[in-house]
Amino acid sequence: MTIWSCTKKDGFVSDNVGGNQIANGCEGAAYPNWETSKHVLPYPVGQSYSIGLSHCSGTPHIEGLPDQFAIDINMNVGTLVTASRKGTIMFVEESGLDYELPNNIVVLRDEDGYFLQYHHLTNNGSIVEQGQFVEKGDPIGYSGASGEAGYPHLHFVASRGGFEAPYMSYPITFSNTSANPFSLIQGQTYEALPY
Ligand SMILES: [Zn+2]
Repeated sequence: MTIWSCTKKDGFVSDNVGGNQIANGCEGAAYPNWETSKHVLPYPVGQSYSIGLSHCSGTPHIEGLPDQFAIDINMNVGTLVTASRKGTIMFVEESGLDYELPNNIVVLRDEDGYFLQYHHLTNNGSIVEQGQFVEKGDPIGYSGASGEAGYPHLHFVASRGGFEAPYMSYPITFSNTSANPFSLIQGQTYEALPY
């Protein structure tokens, strides 16, 4: 398996140098209506974070790779992340150190069979245990830079059929923030609103 690290993307200025366009979702992908989405942002109400790489916006988040529909949320090490939807914790790895392997991951399986994956959590950064049931918004863990993170961020991706690489990712949208018809867009900041 090839592992790519997610490169830091701070916003529009540097990305537009050289004529690169900010990706606006993956072309041709079927995006669920964000206003009726059952998913909420994977961080607490009242918090705002900016987006690094998102859908189809740069290696390894590109078409045909497992992380095509992954989203990098820029967060300092130790930032609380929460359940995007209610479901069951399927997998926890938290033995990694920041900037070292293994990659710390928590996987939450939601009611529609999406595996919601929280990558790069900090060392001992999981609050949940395998088999635990969580409600939407419940604490999941603390973000970090473990694995091939490259810089501190939450790599959030929804897969179906399984969660072990190479998984197949799917686009999800979020109901508790500003309009996101093509999910979250690179360089934008999204506040988690009450739901
Ligand atoms: Zn990423």
